[in-house]
Amino acid sequence: MLIQEMTWQASLDFLARTQLGRLACAQGAQPYVVPIYFSYNNDHLYTFSTVGQKIEWMRANPLVCVEADEVLSSELWISVIVFGRFQELPDVPEWRSERSLAHDLLQRKAMWWEPGYVRTILHGTERPLVPVFYRIHVTEITGHRAIPEPGNAV
Ligand SMILES: Cc1cc2nc3c(=O)[nH]c(=O)nc-3n(C[C@H](O)[C@H](O)[C@H](O)COP(=O)(O)OP(=O)(O)OC[C@H]3O[C@@H](n4cnc5c(N)ncnc54)[C@H](O)[C@@H]3O)c2cc1C
Repeated sequence: MLIQEMTWQASLDFLARTQLGRLACAQGAQPYVVPIYFSYNNDHLYTFSTVGQKIEWMRANPLVCVEADEVLSSELWISVIVFGRFQELPDVPEWRSERSLAHDLLQRKAMWWEPGYVRTILHGTERPLVPVFYRIHVTEITGHRAIPEPGNAV
């Protein structure tokens, strides 16, 4: 197997054709990772949630990391890592067009709202459903691609 670096553009192209990633945020020295769906557009990952731990942590510390991959086999895969900044898209006039863009991008996927907007009962208490649109501004990106090495069948 050979691992090749992907260009910045090839890494962005991959984000544009995938939708599931793992979002890492941190509070102090404690990291927290959750799977999320997103839609990529113009250096941003757009996504949707309700208020919970990840939103509270990202409001306090907007520096995040997102990993997305496509694994066809142990030696044929793509993995992209984004370093970025959380930006909330509040329901106020200044953010209306970005919020509406997020909505338009996300609704290209059927049932797009379901994983982010779902009744959640934790420790016997139902969490209030407060919708939050947000985006991650991509500040750095790396992509690695694994391919089988020709003539090196294992
Ligand atoms: C394929 C997939 C796609 C998803 N897409 C989205 C999306 O687009 N938007 C979105 O908001 N959510 C999505 N989710 C759900 C997401 O992973 C979180 O579970 C959810 O957003 C709640 O996160 P929170 O930080 O608000 O957790 P809270 O509800 O505040 O959670 C409190 C505690 O519950 C535990 N917990 C939370 N989430 C998980 C989890 N996934 N697995 C195990 N333990 C957990 C943690 O220990 C956390 O400390 C998706 C999940 C999957 C599997």
